[in-house]
Amino acid sequence: MLMAHHGSDLIRHLAQPVGLALAGCLYVLSVASAPWTASAAEDPPGAVSPPLSPAAAQARMAELRAEIAYHDELYFRKAAPVISDFAYDRLKRELADLGQAWPAPAPEDAAAAAIGDDRSGRFPVYRHRERMLSLSKSYSESELRAFDARLSRQLGRDDLEYVVEPKFDGIAISVTYENGKLVRAVTRGDGVDGDDVTANALTIATLPRTLKVSAAGSAPALIELRGEIYLGYAEFARINRERTSEGEEPFAHPRNLAAGTLKSVDPRDAARRRLEIVFYGCGGCEPATARPAAQTALLDQLRSWGLPTIVTPRVVRGADRMWLAVGEIGRERGRYGFPTDGAVVKLNAVAAQRRLGATTQAPLWAMAYKFAPERVATRLRAITVQVGRTGVLTPVAELEPVRLGGTTVARASLFNREEIVRRDIRLGDWVYVEKSGEIIPAIAGVDLTRRTPAAVPYVFPAVCPACQGPLVQLAGEVAERCPDLNCPAQVRRRLEHFASAAGVDVPGLGPVLVDRLVAHQLVKTPADLYRLRRDDLRQIGSGMEASADRLLAAIERSKRAELGRFINGLGIPQVGVVSSRNLARHFGSLAALAQVQPADLLENHRPLVSGLGEKASLAVLAYFVRPENQAVVADLLRLGINPKVASDQESVRPLSGRIFVLTGTLPHLTRAEAVKNITAAGGKVAPVVSRETDYVVRGEGAGEKLTDARTRGIRVIDEAELLALLAID
Ligand SMILES: [Zn+2]
Repeated sequence: MLMAHHGSDLIRHLAQPVGLALAGCLYVLSVASAPWTASAAEDPPGAVSPPLSPAAAQARMAELRAEIAYHDELYFRKAAPVISDFAYDRLKRELADLGQAWPAPAPEDAAAAAIGDDRSGRFPVYRHRERMLSLSKSYSESELRAFDARLSRQLGRDDLEYVVEPKFDGIAISVTYENGKLVRAVTRGDGVDGDDVTANALTIATLPRTLKVSAAGSAPALIELRGEIYLGYAEFARINRERTSEGEEPFAHPRNLAAGTLKSVDPRDAARRRLEIVFYGCGGCEPATARPAAQTALLDQLRSWGLPTIVTPRVVRGADRMWLAVGEIGRERGRYGFPTDGAVVKLNAVAAQRRLGATTQAPLWAMAYKFAPERVATRLRAITVQVGRTGVLTPVAELEPVRLGGTTVARASLFNREEIVRRDIRLGDWVYVEKSGEIIPAIAGVDLTRRTPAAVPYVFPAVCPACQGPLVQLAGEVAERCPDLNCPAQVRRRLEHFASAAGVDVPGLGPVLVDRLVAHQLVKTPADLYRLRRDDLRQIGSGMEASADRLLAAIERSKRAELGRFINGLGIPQVGVVSSRNLARHFGSLAALAQVQPADLLENHRPLVSGLGEKASLAVLAYFVRPENQAVVADLLRLGINPKVASDQESVRPLSGRIFVLTGTLPHLTRAEAVKNITAAGGKVAPVVSRETDYVVRGEGAGEKLTDARTRGIRVIDEAELLALLAID
């Protein structure tokens, strides 16, 4: 659904910054040198065929090591990976397999073996009582059955009892409780030492400070509880809505964002995002006898202590049932509210776990099974470069439309110029598309076996594609920008943003109409909208006669939008819906805000407006220093537009009088929830599209109502825009 919607801001700013430390060193490596496909579940992806010559194997191993080191840097140190975990795991697996096939010249493959290292150097380091291992991973039924066969052989019995749990896709954490009191939260680090992130972990509402202990029982003197910190999809979506409304690129994956948040140096940053935590394991424990004797008993114990834990572990015997349970989680996980990337199979009895032991990296009694992300191959038809509201250039892949995960994908992120070069993605290539983090489509690799001589490297524009002006790169940024505020692309994006649901909300003023108004030089700034007359609209072409009155009425109505929406509509960098509301409450009027002085916002770098950070405060000052921005505000005031701060009554009913029609299935809200939310906000939901309809909310599988809305020129919005209108954050 995201990709099919051309106007989506989410897609416009998908870029992920790539580490600057690596900016100068471009590895031109194939991402998918060994051809593999989604259907090859029984053919482990790392399997190398045909056999390589020793020299070719060494060369490939060197390539893989460099590639893995590069992605480790992005993943662990910068928490900004550019490939999916699945693609990364395949690289590691291929390296490990090659290392086994060609052991002599590659003595110890540290890169393939290492747990990784998430330590950032900004936190005190703490040594785990008991090493914090990662899990061995499997990708096919046969690998999982081989795991069971090995355990059965070693333990001398069949029908072993397993606990099968969903694998949370977050950041591994070890939380220590001493006599029932939380004393420390530490990341995995290198498995031996991790970052002490206690202050940030304490911002998690569901993490108890003390264990609930029944009158009869007592908490162990010390216990290291192992689990995962993650971001739920709803919170992830909320943060991205806020972020796109600030003119920033959305985050691509909830896991990266959870990692970045947990590693914020200022706990107040962590507190702004609702991280969650789940426990499913145990490290050091004193006295040792306090440790539950089975995984199921541990999960029960965690629950009785009041800790969030695995809600529905599946307890099964034997390989057949174990595989069925893994399959069940695979089918169910689409309905989970948290990100998962697999299932974890654990031997239930702790005594048997001890007999099997562990390698230096992973326990031998547990195995993760990674679900393959759905992926398809399609043709890269073109690369277009979009210029965003703040001038950032984002390359987007224009694909031969293809079905993926129940939606049609026609576009995917290419991150930035460097990523295209580094991955050697060429026009006309066959590329693999998958949903990274199950949400946003991304290009996972190139099928080099299908590359033809006609596939040509892409030449990134040397000037702004919209205004042909020179580009700049700001210090500390990978993105290239057009710095010209008069750039027509930026003018259009700013107007669209002003009229958007999160701005002053003018239904009907979508990208097409904005383009026409700008092309006819009728509108350049928000104030120009309020000068539009019926005659102006007539000259921009046919089809306007019928809707001109409606549009003018909507523009007129937008004058009464509350102050926070006006401020957000201005598109001040770093300032989104929430910051705008805070600014509105603090300053009370547009005129007062425009007079803002440094001393109003900051005192010794300390922000004075509640809910507005230092970065945003500086951005507000920088915005109002510019005469062209002052002119926009002065112009609005001259036109008599003087927005008010919303009273509580108004802010709870932001949709009074608006009429909605729903079509298709929305990604997160059920139909009943959507109706309930709209009604609660004062809006109405009608069964069919009519002249009175303000918005058509489109979901997957939208039908005739959508066509109807388009022919009538009614504003079509997606779920994210609906949520913005509802001011849910
Ligand atoms: Zn430009």
